[in-house]
Amino acid sequence: MKKLFAGTALCSLLMAATVVVAQDVKKCATDELIHSIIAKDPSAQAKLDAYEKDVQQRAAILATEQANNATQKTTASKYSIALAFHVVLTQAQLDQIGGTQGLYNRVVSQIEVLNTDFNAQNTDAIPSAFASLKGNPDMSFGLAHTKPDGSGTIGIEILIKPAGFTGYEQTDNSLKRTSAGGLDPWDNSRYLNIWITNITTSSGGEILGYAYNPKLASVMLGDPGLMGVVVDFLAFGKRSSVVQQFFVNADKGRTMVHEFGHFFTLNHIWGNTSVGNGNCNDDDGVDDTPRQSDANQSNCPTFPKASCINANPGEMFMNYMDYVYDACMAMFSKGQVTRMQSEFVTGGGSINLPKNINLFSWPSGVENVSMTNEIDVVPNPSNGIFTITYGNGLKQVTINNMLGQVVKQIPVTNQQSGTMSVNIIDAGKGMYTIQCLYNEGIVSKKVIVQ
Ligand SMILES: [Zn+2]
Repeated sequence: MKKLFAGTALCSLLMAATVVVAQDVKKCATDELIHSIIAKDPSAQAKLDAYEKDVQQRAAILATEQANNATQKTTASKYSIALAFHVVLTQAQLDQIGGTQGLYNRVVSQIEVLNTDFNAQNTDAIPSAFASLKGNPDMSFGLAHTKPDGSGTIGIEILIKPAGFTGYEQTDNSLKRTSAGGLDPWDNSRYLNIWITNITTSSGGEILGYAYNPKLASVMLGDPGLMGVVVDFLAFGKRSSVVQQFFVNADKGRTMVHEFGHFFTLNHIWGNTSVGNGNCNDDDGVDDTPRQSDANQSNCPTFPKASCINANPGEMFMNYMDYVYDACMAMFSKGQVTRMQSEFVTGGGSINLPKNINLFSWPSGVENVSMTNEIDVVPNPSNGIFTITYGNGLKQVTINNMLGQVVKQIPVTNQQSGTMSVNIIDAGKGMYTIQCLYNEGIVSKKVIVQ
C-alpha cells in the first residue's frame, strides 16, 4: 500500500468547516497482514488458495440455491449478529472522541451505519449501469446485552491504558489478549468481536482498520482468537458534529463496513495485490465486479473509469471494498452478497453467529451492571410510559431496542437526582434497554413494553 490516503486540496472546503486529523492515512491493512504471513511462511500461500477456492465453491452453490428458491424479502433481516466492542485507549485518547459519552455515541452511530448499509437501505448515488447489481446482505447488528458468562452487559468494554501507551501496530496481536495487556475476544462463535484502539504503523501513514475472517484466522494464523475486526478510534462511528475528530474523509462509518466485508470473506475489489502494484490479472473472486487494476484511493472518481480491457462498464469504485472516501461508497454487489452469505451455510466460517438472538437480551434476573449509581423504573412492565428515578450526575438517558438501535435519547442538563417521565409508546411492544450515562459510567436497566 504505497499510495497514501491523504488530506488534499480536493477536500479543503470540507476541511475548513470540520475538525479532521490531516495526516497520511492508509485505508486498510488486511492485505498487508496476509502478505506478511506468506512472506514468513510460504506454505501459507497454499492455505490461502485453498481457503479462497472453498469460499468460491460454497458461494457458487449458494448462488444456485438462491436462484432456484427465490423467496419474498421480509422486513426483518435474515441474519442478526451480536457485537462485542473492546475498547483499548488511554484516557487522553478516549477524551479525543468525547470521553465515555462520545465513545458510546460513536458506537451507536456505527451500528446505525452497519444496519443501513448491510440492509441496502443507504441512498448513496450509484451509476445506472450498476444499479441492478446492488445487493442486500440482509444482515443486522446490535450490541450484545448478555456476556459469555451470562451476566448483563452494554456490549462495550473499555480498558484505559497508562498515559505512555500509544497504540498497537497492526501486527501486534497482544491487543486481543487480556494476559498481554489487551482484551480477549468473547466466544467468537457467538459474538462478532470488534476492537477499537489507536492502530500504529512503523511504515508511515496511518491505518484505519483491518480484519481477519474466521477461517483465515484459524487456518492461516492457527489462532481462532484473532478473528474479528479492528478499527482505529478516529475512523469509527459517523460524524454528528463539526467539532468531532476523525481521519480525513473517514467519518461516515464506512471503514467498519469495509472491514466487515473482509470479515465475511470479501477481497478488495481490485484483488489483493498491494496498492500501487496494480495489475489486471488478479481478481476479487466475484463475477459481477468488473476487473480493476488498483485501488481508487484518496478520491471520488467520476464514472465511467476503466483500467482493464473488457472491464465494462468501468470500475465499480463506489463499492465498499474499494478505498474511496466514505462519502463515495454506496454498495456491495449481488455477487459479493452471496459470497458473504455463504459464511452462514454448512462449511462457512460464521455459521453460528446469527443463531444467538438471546444475546441481545439482558439475562433474566440481572438488571444493572456493576455501578453504585442505581436507577429505578416504574411501572415495569409498562404500556410505554414509565418514570425513571435517577441519582446525581446523570448526563444522558438513551433507550435502545434489543438490536441496539436508539429509540429515544434524552440529554440531562441539571445533573441533580430526580425523576423523569419517558414515553416510548410509538416504539411498539417489546423489550428495551434504558442506559443512563453518569459521569463515572453507564447504568442499564431493561424495561418491557406490553
Ligand atoms: Zn480492506
